[in-house]
Amino acid sequence: MHQGIVGMSEFTPRIVLVTGGAGFIGSHFARYVLQTHQEANVVNLDALTYAGTKENLEDVMECDRHKFVHGDICDEGLVKSLLREHAIDTVVHFAAESHVDRSILEPDAFVRTNVQGTFNLLEETRRFWLEEKNWSKAQCRFHHVSTDEVYGALGHDDLPFTEMSRYVPNSPYSASKAASDHLVRAYQHTYQLPTTITHCSNNYGPYQHQEKFIPTVISMCLNERPIPVYGDGSNIRDWLYVEDHCVAIWKVIESGRIGQTYNIGGSNQVSNLDVVKLLCRTLADALSEKQEKFLKLISFVTDRPGHDWRYAIDSQKIRGELGWQPTNKFERGIRKTVDWYLARRD
Ligand code: NAD
Repeated sequence: MHQGIVGMSEFTPRIVLVTGGAGFIGSHFARYVLQTHQEANVVNLDALTYAGTKENLEDVMECDRHKFVHGDICDEGLVKSLLREHAIDTVVHFAAESHVDRSILEPDAFVRTNVQGTFNLLEETRRFWLEEKNWSKAQCRFHHVSTDEVYGALGHDDLPFTEMSRYVPNSPYSASKAASDHLVRAYQHTYQLPTTITHCSNNYGPYQHQEKFIPTVISMCLNERPIPVYGDGSNIRDWLYVEDHCVAIWKVIESGRIGQTYNIGGSNQVSNLDVVKLLCRTLADALSEKQEKFLKLISFVTDRPGHDWRYAIDSQKIRGELGWQPTNKFERGIRKTVDWYLARRD
């Protein structure tokens, strides 16, 4: 599948530091590794901000290959000692402030965690892996989880973002992620730290924080309150089921080319309004209700400042080089998500 691609190297992660592993995607990733890769151990570092909770790890908390550490990625001493204490050979960096609306109101935390925190992880891994251990690129890997939002917004007829698209971040969130991407790139180029980066589109699935779009819609429907839809609901996102994202990240770590970036997307562009309608239909179906009961709750609200209109991802590179493709169709993934929230209604 990927024979003959220059720079392709196989790597087996053994002791994986997952940052932000009590958040939405990080907790799915920790679970995925623990349940499907018996050779790997997970050290899970999370500050448990408002966005993270140990409940997201309920089914893997007791696993003896999983160690949860409550701490901050900006804490130099802690990161330094964790790397050495566990002989970490792989960092998978999810920890971030991740909500665009919050980044507009309080950008400081985004610069601190997303930029300063990423810098701290890069610097400490560089010191441990390259200076102290003198490990080769076959012995360690730093994977940075980035977002498609660093590429800015697309117009109606624009082609989806590729790995060659220009960086045009529009919110303090995407600007802080862009800055962290640049630091990762620089550490690879300058120090030969073996890094990879992925840019993923919007994720959905169980364990997502209530403040995000899909959980908000579900919760408003269940509480029969107005469903807030920004502007006219025409904004388009390329939705991907969270487990498909985790599989893609693992493939990049195992077989991706060092220093490369890979886009990950569902090839599934849907307007916000259509997502809301699908959720209303799915909830009505699951609860044996009429969908009109939920549809009538749709309420258009003043648009977010600088709201990016459309994101779409061209993921041909990861599909062609690494043989990844999403396996969860949108309707099925939404049904699984709705069922999960219904089971935890309280
Ligand atoms: P999330 O907000 O659900 O989780 C973030 C986690 O990081 C939380 O558990 C939080 O406690 C932790 N954290 C925050 N600051 C920390 C710090 N200083 N030290 C240690 N831990 C800290 O976010 P998410 O949606 O799971 O996103 C995870 C990553 O994936 C982010 O880097 C985000 O940019 C990226 N991403 C997300 C999406 C998406 O649709 N959610 C899409 C593409 C990329």
